[in-house]
Amino acid sequence: MARTNVSACKLVFILISLQSMIQVFANLQSSEEHTHEIHCSRERSRTAYKIIEQYLMPFVEQENYQMSPKCKLHPGNDIFRDQEEHKIHVDVNEWRCGYCKKSFRAEKFLDQHFDNRHYNLLNVSHNNCLADLCGALHCDHVANSVVPKTKCNPAAAARNRHLCESLADSCFPVHQGPSASRLHELFLRQFCDAHTCAGSVKPFVRGGRKHTNIFYLAISILILMLLPIFYLIVFLYQREMRKGTQVLRRISKQSLKKKPS
Ligand SMILES: [Zn+2]
Repeated sequence: MARTNVSACKLVFILISLQSMIQVFANLQSSEEHTHEIHCSRERSRTAYKIIEQYLMPFVEQENYQMSPKCKLHPGNDIFRDQEEHKIHVDVNEWRCGYCKKSFRAEKFLDQHFDNRHYNLLNVSHNNCLADLCGALHCDHVANSVVPKTKCNPAAAARNRHLCESLADSCFPVHQGPSASRLHELFLRQFCDAHTCAGSVKPFVRGGRKHTNIFYLAISILILMLLPIFYLIVFLYQREMRKGTQVLRRISKQSLKKKPS
């Protein structure tokens, strides 16, 4: 009797451990599926998007040129675009999810939330990753304000230059007209020329979008408002001083007249 009890217990124990093992295996598989589906860095995609916005789009807008959706630089080809546009930066330490309104202390936690909760909202249909263009767009130059002095790799520079030129050809085909032709030329000067180990050609030589800094604007307005008040104070002070010296002069004249007697 006791023996059958013991073997029943063993059987239950084995069954439970088997079940938990199956569960662990299933979890592992699902998490692997989750991480294996996307090979695109959100952070580098963000940097690439910022570079396109700052150093390319002002010229594209100026030419009134419509980039083809086939062009990899087209904003529609960013897997993370919809999620990035659903970020609400409320305060320095508050980021809110635009889909479910949940708040987070930092942007990286909101990124994790997007990865876990709104995974289905990624624009994966085209499988386009802006981070893949980082080599051509000089993401490292922008992301690290202090670029570490490493030896230039000629093979890597040639690879990036090739990628850069193929972007220029596919996004701004020269045969498409004068606007496309001008933008093709601009793209080569702005992004591709710097992919070289010879000399020190810097990227973005044609400049970019100019941001009016709100801080400087506020300071300028404040100075303009305070300047008249300052001059008024100086004027009043000088007038009082003049009055004071006139009174002193009168007193000294009077005392001089009285002395001889
Ligand atoms: Zn959410």
